[in-house]
Amino acid sequence: MAKNKNIVIKGARVHNLKNIHVEIPSGSFTVVTGVSGSGKSSLVFDTLFAEGQRRYVESLSSYARQFLGRMNKPEVDFIEGLAPAIAIEQKVNTRNPRSTVSTSTEIYDYLKLLFARIGKTISPVSGMEVKRHTVEDVLKIIMQQAVDSNILILGKLKVVKGKEKAVLDKYLQQGFARLYVDGQILKIAETEPKALTGKDCFLLIDRLVIAEKDDELMSRATDSLESAFWEGEGTCYVKINEHMLNFSNKFELDGIAFEIPSQDFLSFNNPIGACKTCEGYGQVIGIDEDLVIPDKSLSVYEGCVQPWKGEVMSEWREDFVKKAIHFDFPVHRAYFDLNEKEKDLLWQGNAKVGGLNEFFKSLEEQSYKIQYRVMLSRYRGKTVCPDCKGTRLRKDASYVKLVTQREVENIPHHIALQEIILMNVDQAYYYFNNVQLIDTDMKIAGRIFIEVKNRLEFLQRVGLGYLGLNRLSNTLSGGESQRINLATSLGSSLTGSMYILDEPSIGLHPRDTKRLIGVLKTLQQIGNTVIVVEHEDEMMKAADQLIDIGPGAGTGGGELVFNGTYNEILTDEKSITGKYLSNRVSIAIPTKRRNWKNSIQITGARENNLKNIEVKFPLQVMTCVTGVSGSGKTTLVKNIFYPALQKAIGSYSGYKTGKHEKIQGDLHLVKQIEMVDQNPIGKSSRSNPITYLKAYDSIRDLFSELPASKTGKLKPSHFSFNVDGGRCEHCKGEGDVTIEMQFMADLILPCEFCKGKRFKEEILDIRYKGLNIADILELTVDEAMEFFKETPTIAHKIEPLQKVGLGYVALGQSSNTLSGGEAQRIKLATFLGKGNSKESHTVFVFDEPTTGLHFQDIKKLLFCFNALIEKGHTVIVIEHNTDVIKSADWVIDLGPEGGDLGGNLVFEGTPEDLAKCKESYTSPFLKEKLMLQAAVQ
Ligand code: ADP
Ligand code: ADP
Ligand code: ZN
Ligand code: ZN
Repeated sequence: MAKNKNIVIKGARVHNLKNIHVEIPSGSFTVVTGVSGSGKSSLVFDTLFAEGQRRYVESLSSYARQFLGRMNKPEVDFIEGLAPAIAIEQKVNTRNPRSTVSTSTEIYDYLKLLFARIGKTISPVSGMEVKRHTVEDVLKIIMQQAVDSNILILGKLKVVKGKEKAVLDKYLQQGFARLYVDGQILKIAETEPKALTGKDCFLLIDRLVIAEKDDELMSRATDSLESAFWEGEGTCYVKINEHMLNFSNKFELDGIAFEIPSQDFLSFNNPIGACKTCEGYGQVIGIDEDLVIPDKSLSVYEGCVQPWKGEVMSEWREDFVKKAIHFDFPVHRAYFDLNEKEKDLLWQGNAKVGGLNEFFKSLEEQSYKIQYRVMLSRYRGKTVCPDCKGTRLRKDASYVKLVTQREVENIPHHIALQEIILMNVDQAYYYFNNVQLIDTDMKIAGRIFIEVKNRLEFLQRVGLGYLGLNRLSNTLSGGESQRINLATSLGSSLTGSMYILDEPSIGLHPRDTKRLIGVLKTLQQIGNTVIVVEHEDEMMKAADQLIDIGPGAGTGGGELVFNGTYNEILTDEKSITGKYLSNRVSIAIPTKRRNWKNSIQITGARENNLKNIEVKFPLQVMTCVTGVSGSGKTTLVKNIFYPALQKAIGSYSGYKTGKHEKIQGDLHLVKQIEMVDQNPIGKSSRSNPITYLKAYDSIRDLFSELPASKTGKLKPSHFSFNVDGGRCEHCKGEGDVTIEMQFMADLILPCEFCKGKRFKEEILDIRYKGLNIADILELTVDEAMEFFKETPTIAHKIEPLQKVGLGYVALGQSSNTLSGGEAQRIKLATFLGKGNSKESHTVFVFDEPTTGLHFQDIKKLLFCFNALIEKGHTVIVIEHNTDVIKSADWVIDLGPEGGDLGGNLVFEGTPEDLAKCKESYTSPFLKEKLMLQAAVQ
């Protein structure tokens, strides 16, 4: 076999890359690592992927080619051995609000196909299968009968009262002579029309006795059956000896006309299939239980019903409480302790008392009064559609079922598409692996069946078995969404391609990393090159090839530090990564855990999968929340703790608070709560690090004070690219222009007028110490600190950026080009910039802050955390990284599993005690880390 050519990159100079030469073995599993900002993405995405895509487009269409002359080719001398490139990114596709786990993985498409091909429509009335018959179907039955069989071919007669005679006359004229009524054959001419009223009447079309099954019989029966269907308006009855058979060429049974299963009928994205009530959104605007009963730990007596609190409306509450003894309603029981029947009673009411539904109805009836309208709007919110239960399909689509051949434990005899949609991946996987379909169905749909099974298996393998198939894509985290895309790529099994992934281990517990590696290796083994930007130890160990970019970030990086195997890097002298991996350098374990006495408690947390848990969050220390993916960390911290605390300290979060009983503890100590995520600090190219830190205002002031500005009457606003005046008019200060392409991602090209400088010529002529405003924006933070030495107002505002390790970032680098980790540290810089502040005690919440971070960066991040705590603040982190966990003062471990089998508090205490906890999946990884390091230190 010929050996694959290597992918060879020569002279790469994109962003900070220093003219580097890199070789990647084709067909390998390669990990690219290095500190944040060292140039990994510049190499992998902006050079390799960009060029791969450019060549791909070039080979595709002439329309695209006309733009290629202007499309920036990455700054690289040449690349050879390049294959079509596919990037699997962490972006959550929020563009389509209807996209779900099952649609984005194509599972839904296959399910639709499966049900349309082999689904049987079962009448909800009789439980019988609905079938559509043709003349041929009926003829076949007739031809199968024994010789001498008596056959009557009948058409159903509709006798309208008062018109009996007219009907009979019409048939006589048409040449029919007989009727079949009550088991008797009657001559039409001799029938008294009135006698037919209320009886089952048929028109006798033909009478056959089978003698020879020849062509003559066939053609006569065919003619008769055709007229029977015609006269019976689509139905036809055939009496064979004593048995009456009923056929319909419409899709009807039990007096109901059914829809013929088709893909459109089973699509919620199609008006034909969408639930009529919610139009396929799965949600409707209705009265929101959570708004009506915000504190579910209160009883009706204590006033759990929010709208029954005001002076006027409290009549409803008093009335309900007074009458409750008559029907044993526990008015003193907390709302969340009520059973379904009792809750129903509160909502539906009964003959004696009005419930909430009636209350809201009365508000609606009086909604011409403004105060009632306002009141109503306060309790309206999105709720699950009552008709489709969130499956978004019209109700009658549920009559279409997959039918099993044999009884299997835990597998229903038949199942509707909706029931599958409401399963999670694990449950659906179980179903498809155990169900025994009818053989003929399996022949038709075997291929589709395998596609569904494969995709479910891939989802499990990337650690997403707990996800509901109906889960909206825009509620997934970036890591979950990337792993879904990875599973989907496996499903489409392309080969000979180059797959590029950005930290696929995000959001994944170390327990599941091995399975993810297995998936990446599968992708490689089916004949692809897999290139992954990663910092995870296990992932690097598993790689064929390890590339280290660095040594530092920005201008301090951009070199190829190492390119070889894992074993080789362990002893490499230059690579910082190698030093960490071999424990020659490490993040020190704190010698002592901070003690704490104050805390905030959450009780009765029950949102999503949380099992009514009670958790203490200590104040003024660092707490780490851990657990496998799907165990409930995000739900606890971001959906309950964060908004509840926000509300408790009297500010508004805009977040809906997840179900819980109470938040209590030392609330008075907390002045603020901040969620520091990795979201961009600004969505457009118009914000950048110094606008975020408000340092740009001072720089514009400085420029407007210059003599040349005074003569030209230039104000600070002339040095802004956000308002008209000084900015380039062609690109409105963007520096580049976007060209929409019909069939591919938008093209972004530098503005032809200002050449990307964003400002008009006359503005660029104004210089301070030799630099114009565009030059200033290109300075790095480190350079700017030097440049503004004599202008402390500016230097002081920029300094925190240097402290959090962002000295290499350009002042004007658009926020949308900053990595998530960089954006996060810019946010931290704003807080560290503020003075020492016991009075402004802030609780900081971080969700996987180590995303995109190298060991070296994590060290810096931990430094920031400690700085915040030293200033008297509290840090709470959701994290899988063992270096962070071992550095925490306190750990809250959730689980043990993801989804329904998770949501319990497995452990709370110090890292040392967690390492001893047998129930926790986090424990073994932490233990290994603590022991390994203890041995080295
Ligand atoms: P990594 O992926 O290793 O974190 P990047 O390749 O994203 O690093 O960045 C390398 C350097 O290039 C950093 O200094 C970064 O700020 C800079 N950079 C990244 N994208 C852009 C861009 N679009 N324009 C200018 N500089 C950029
Ligand atoms: P973790 O943060 O530990 O990965 P999550 O709190 O995100 O876990 O999820 C816990 C459980 O709740 C999982 O089963 C998850 O699928 C479910 N879940 C989370 N968010 C939603 C949502 N918006 N809608 C439905 N289910 C959700
Ligand atoms: Zn609906
Ligand atoms: Zn311009």
